[in-house]
Amino acid sequence: MFGYNGKILRVNLSDETIKEETFNEAFAKRWLGTRGFGIYYLLKEIDPTIDPFSPENKLIFATGPLTGTSAPTGGRYMVITKSPLTEYVAMANSGGFFGPELKFAGWDALIIEGKANHPVYIYINDESVEIKDASHLWGKVVSETEERLKEEVGDKNVQIASIGPAGENKVRFAAVMNNGHRAAGRGGVGAVMGSKNLKAIVVRGHKKVEVADKGKFMEVVREKIEKLKKDPVAGGGLPKYGTAVLVNIINENGLYPTRNFQKGVFEYAYEQSGEAMAAKYLTKNKPCFACPIGCGRVNRLPTLGITEGPEYESVWALGANLGINDLASIIEANHLADEFGMDTISLGGTLATAMELYEKGLLKQEDIGEDAPPFRWGNTEVLHYYVEKIARREGFGDVLAEGGYRLAEKFNGLEYFMGVKKQELPAYDPRGAEGHGLGYATNNRGGCHIKQYMISPEILGYPYKMDPHDISDEKVKMVILFQDLTALVDAAGLCVFTTFGLGADDYRDLLNAALGWDFSTEDYLKIGERIWNAERLFNLKAGLDPVKEDTLPKRLLEEPMPEGPHKGHVVRLKEMLPRYYKFRGWTEDGRIPEEKLKELGLEEFI
Ligand code: SF4
Repeated sequence: MFGYNGKILRVNLSDETIKEETFNEAFAKRWLGTRGFGIYYLLKEIDPTIDPFSPENKLIFATGPLTGTSAPTGGRYMVITKSPLTEYVAMANSGGFFGPELKFAGWDALIIEGKANHPVYIYINDESVEIKDASHLWGKVVSETEERLKEEVGDKNVQIASIGPAGENKVRFAAVMNNGHRAAGRGGVGAVMGSKNLKAIVVRGHKKVEVADKGKFMEVVREKIEKLKKDPVAGGGLPKYGTAVLVNIINENGLYPTRNFQKGVFEYAYEQSGEAMAAKYLTKNKPCFACPIGCGRVNRLPTLGITEGPEYESVWALGANLGINDLASIIEANHLADEFGMDTISLGGTLATAMELYEKGLLKQEDIGEDAPPFRWGNTEVLHYYVEKIARREGFGDVLAEGGYRLAEKFNGLEYFMGVKKQELPAYDPRGAEGHGLGYATNNRGGCHIKQYMISPEILGYPYKMDPHDISDEKVKMVILFQDLTALVDAAGLCVFTTFGLGADDYRDLLNAALGWDFSTEDYLKIGERIWNAERLFNLKAGLDPVKEDTLPKRLLEEPMPEGPHKGHVVRLKEMLPRYYKFRGWTEDGRIPEEKLKELGLEEFI
């Protein structure tokens, strides 16, 4: 089997058993990799209604068939589990170099079960797998953890996925970090790792990923790299200014959420843009494994020295969404969030919820403590004060560590939580891109942009420009296509930023050349559709109520955008959602009928 090792490593932390399992090509052709493998094992092996922090939850690290190859951006891996934030499926993706190393060690995926009775780490050196004590690392930030582990195993070339104090303390939006600043960020996958007393996974591998026809594969790879280089975003804006190149674009287009989505234009946006970052702090780009785009930033701050990031979402979440315009404070807060191991989108969204609750008088100074900085828009002290307090669950940080939804519920202000399925929304106000709003409402992991980036057609013009306020059948079908295509790109082990330069046929070419298959584009998109439906099925089994939860915050549905190019618009979700269900082949109330499950080969999960 090309592209795969055909092997899965299963580690049970309760009884310390370590097992090797195999899979065949028929399995690979059904699930492809990463999200596909992950959701298969979740559906097969866990009760979807379990407590995400119970030892019965499983934590799956999975690569794709192109992970570790020279396919452009072929360095991704994914962490899949039941989310403690949404209580539905979590699939958080990361780049850097950890995923390829796991593959080089001979494993396509790692399934972690149970719970260790003291802090441990897993050390994988090709076939050799050990569970080792990590008590001395508990409480350490990510950079120190990585440094000490490299010293301890005596190999500076190991790759490490670890959690910071936020994961240890089960902050519901804790991330799994690798290469210091690369995060499998969303959905609290790091908190599940912490709940298992697992501090880190250390990997070293010496194998190569074999492809079916090396000459043909390299020819296809060169062709796709050329396409990416010629693309103005993948080959221009992203390498030059990082993903924060979007700050000015999204702000000028009037959908840069400002002060907890109260409006879509931030008056100080330029000061936190990719252009401003490049002028003031940028020292160089930092690409992930096999990436010709290189959106990663290496910045130097007088206060901090060298750090990496922030990317667009973090700039916004710790900036405009809090009314903060000081880029240095944003970069410092991003650095701390990485060190403590937290998802910056949910961190910023939670603080924004606190700020609006405070503004509306629902959250009072006496609730947070007289010495704590007030939750006022633009108050950078909030960033400096709370990031560590949340990670360590100290003082009011303990309440914030539960995320924005649970905070808003506690203080009777649920309407001020800007999220979907209890997960905080990212950096696009869907009143300026209604298809994007439909994507948020139907996303399997809750408030998330990246699993169907409708900003591409609605704002940036990829693959062609669509009116952001068109809600025709064509738009609804485009949301579905983007969801299935993204599931395919994720499962292949590639970065979704390649979709700026590549289309579905390009992914088919890369996969066929690597795997020796002769799948059509439709065959591959069918895998994406299968993955999407399987994730939905898991959520339905976990208790998802589509009528109540396939929705958006009231503000986005009922409060017209107050100013800017989209003034007067709301998201007409009610007009799109029934057609979305219909085109998906689901029932009118958003459930998957038996015949659809059978059509997708999911009957074993009925
Ligand atoms: S585009 Fe950016 S995030 Fe994606 S693989 Fe390249 S450097 Fe990493």
